[in-house]
Amino acid sequence: MKKIIDKVCFLITVFMAMFFLSGCANLDSQLTIDKQGNATLREKTLVSQELLNFADVNLNKRVAQINSSPDYTAERVQENSLVGIVITRKFQNIENNDISFEEFNLDDSVSTNLDSEKFVDVSKSFFITKYSINFNIDLGEDVDYVKTKFSIVIPVDAKDTNATNVNAKQHEYTWDITQPKQNISLTYEILNMTNILLCLIPVCTIFVIVFILLLFRLNRCKSLTKSCPLCGESINADAKKCIYCGELLDRGDNIH
Ligand SMILES: [Zn+2]
Repeated sequence: MKKIIDKVCFLITVFMAMFFLSGCANLDSQLTIDKQGNATLREKTLVSQELLNFADVNLNKRVAQINSSPDYTAERVQENSLVGIVITRKFQNIENNDISFEEFNLDDSVSTNLDSEKFVDVSKSFFITKYSINFNIDLGEDVDYVKTKFSIVIPVDAKDTNATNVNAKQHEYTWDITQPKQNISLTYEILNMTNILLCLIPVCTIFVIVFILLLFRLNRCKSLTKSCPLCGESINADAKKCIYCGELLDRGDNIH
């Protein structure tokens, strides 16, 4: 009996593979992280109507089911001859709330490589916030049947990444998933401008105060000196005799 079940399963897989092989499934996921560290995960899955019928999936039901969950939005989409679903979920402050692939089609295929066991690790120092992303997409044999793409959009240039395509202008990093197990790795840093300004303001203030004090002192020194009418050297304002040339200055007619 088990053999028969196995055989049926095999046949279904072959059928599925045939549908997929005709280029009728694609998965396009995008993770967008803004400057404040809030993230949006969006996944678009497109399949042929035939595959949908074959797998007996009711798309409208699935859309309604996802939309009933407060964290997610889903909509039905159609592109050329393909139909599918776009699922979106927003994550506030990923320093404390890591992104999650739950309810997304990629959920079973992703696993993190970071020590923190998060998908996005955020480490904050006073001047810099560092974002590290490192996980695997493990599609196995499906990689041959499902055209899969993953992209990450960040607010600055990446410091280090193994993305296969880079759109530098949009800070968009894309991986065409062509390996059964593909690594997604990206790090970037954001300067904490508020803290930098907080440090710069007192430093600038001290600099300005020191500058004003120096100017004041210089003027005071000037007013305490005069030039010797004979040799031109700078001497004390109330000097009676020049220390440079020995000229007597107490006659009161040659002080400048
Ligand atoms: Zn003199």
